[in-house]
Amino acid sequence: MPLKIDFHVHTCYSGDCSTSLRDVISYSKKKGLDGVVITDHNTVEGALKLQKKSDNEIIIIPGIEVSTNAGHILGINVTTPIPRGLTIKETVEKIHEAGGIAVAAHPSAIYKSGVRLNKKIISQGIDAIEVINSSVFPFFLINSRSRKFACRAKMPQTGGSDSHIPETIGLAYTMISGVDVNSEIEEIICAVKRGWSIPRGRPVPWKIRLRQIFRK
Ligand SMILES: [Zn+2]
Ligand SMILES: [Zn+2]
Repeated sequence: MPLKIDFHVHTCYSGDCSTSLRDVISYSKKKGLDGVVITDHNTVEGALKLQKKSDNEIIIIPGIEVSTNAGHILGINVTTPIPRGLTIKETVEKIHEAGGIAVAAHPSAIYKSGVRLNKKIISQGIDAIEVINSSVFPFFLINSRSRKFACRAKMPQTGGSDSHIPETIGLAYTMISGVDVNSEIEEIICAVKRGWSIPRGRPVPWKIRLRQIFRK
């Protein structure tokens, strides 16, 4: 059975999110996930705390969502903070030095700060493209654009909810083959790099989207 992992989850350590670390565990179980990648904005604090707190029923992969000078990049399997405001190339290098892989988060998204998809991005060392992000709008247009780019460039693909509230955890996820619940995080990351990943997911439901807009 392939692993089902939400590759883009925020916690209260993000500053714009109220999801507690305990919520991450309970909702991940409720949604039938095998694991999550914690990608708080410019910090790994919550991810590291959650790893210690976890009861090992859910795989916690530490990560970070870095604000580069040209959009957001996910650092997956990163346990040290990556400075914000650098170029994409510099950020990717730092993520690699930290032992992680770099994923272009919600590229080309209209209301979010995504990196632009072009040939240059491949030469900058990006390892994978997030081709399903539940929170982008319009969901199908933006995500299909990212998917087409990834397919053409033959790049590995990931999917994640970009959840900022507990209810949206698991709306999108990445199915990873060749590994299982006993695999090391490095093996899971390696499988993604090899392209053994299939993104799946759906958009944030309108009811939740409107509630989030009014709350802001
Ligand atoms: Zn983002
Ligand atoms: Zn995010």
